[in-house]
Amino acid sequence: MKPETLAIHSGNLIKSATGDVTSPISLSTTFLRDEHGNYPGGHMYSRVSNPNRNALEKVLTELEKGQDACAFSSGNTAGMAVFQALKPGSHIIAPDDMYWGFKKQLQSIFADTLTFDFIDLTDTAQIEAYIKPNTVLIWAETPSNPLLKITDIAVLAEISTKHGLIFACDSTFASPSLQNPLLLGADLVMHSTTKYIGGHSDVLGGALITAKKDAFWEKIRNIQQIGGAVPSPFDCFLLLRSLKTLAYRMQGHSSNGLTLARFLEKHPNVEAVYYPGLSSHPDHKIASKQMSAFGGMLSILVKGGAEQARAMVNKVRLFAQATSLGGVESLIEHRASVEGPDTKTPQNLVRISAGLEHIDDLIADLEQALA
Ligand code: PLP
Repeated sequence: MKPETLAIHSGNLIKSATGDVTSPISLSTTFLRDEHGNYPGGHMYSRVSNPNRNALEKVLTELEKGQDACAFSSGNTAGMAVFQALKPGSHIIAPDDMYWGFKKQLQSIFADTLTFDFIDLTDTAQIEAYIKPNTVLIWAETPSNPLLKITDIAVLAEISTKHGLIFACDSTFASPSLQNPLLLGADLVMHSTTKYIGGHSDVLGGALITAKKDAFWEKIRNIQQIGGAVPSPFDCFLLLRSLKTLAYRMQGHSSNGLTLARFLEKHPNVEAVYYPGLSSHPDHKIASKQMSAFGGMLSILVKGGAEQARAMVNKVRLFAQATSLGGVESLIEHRASVEGPDTKTPQNLVRISAGLEHIDDLIADLEQALA
């Protein structure tokens, strides 16, 4: 079945006698054993598994063309499970433009146990020079947050395979609808399901999907079940509900994202636009090869500096000035002030999450805010 069909039907595990056409929310934290001590319903305790989480993991596995998935309580706990599964002393190659929360995790929580280099992964020729005897993981993020850098997934997969490394890709900005890193050779794909998969700014979650059920994956499953950073059955229900419209929402986000990028590229008060769908983007060709469309995320540099950028985000009327992304409502933020004083993000960078409002209303709002 095609992704649009899978997203609607694959997670609908209907067992009730009431004729429901969608899955009920299964709130029970514990499940009955039979006289032999077995669990005839297939579940023991809801931190380990429950019907709604299993359904979510099944759909995510199928949409990303993987072998298995683990759902977590946030994108941060999904990513952290990968770092936790590494042996102390391991070295990680990570992108210079990495979602700041993960960079912070590595620099604070894992500062004593892991080592890492943050490098420009778009320059694939230099990556091998950073591989050390204790390197075990290449972590990529494409498109990246907030500079919308594009990494060639197939090339990174080749390098990882050659050196026996695990290759994980944060594909949050693309969603499973626009890009499937496992099909291009990645070992793991990561999503903050809070973003496009949730799509309505009302549920926090994360997920990892694996290309193979190997020993490393078993460690991750163990961290999920024993660590317990799991989404509630209601969270899983919401995510499954949202997944049913993901393909259509991504068409709208991509169309609005591209039109806004083209409008902003011509605006006299905009110094630069970062959007992989523009032919002026340095890696537009790679993006076109590995993505089916370019999503709703873009960043701009406002002419004049930090003050002008802050003034612009304070002037919007329709866009909500808030962090996060991927919801139906358009968001805008002065990114450097969200990331804190040690950020390398340009002070005049404004990050935009194009929602699903009519494009004319979005353009009119940015027009008056930039005037
Ligand atoms: N990865 C990317 C690219 C993100 O943008 C985010 C959040 O902004 C995360 C991971 C972390 O996800 P969460 O906020 O669900 O923990």
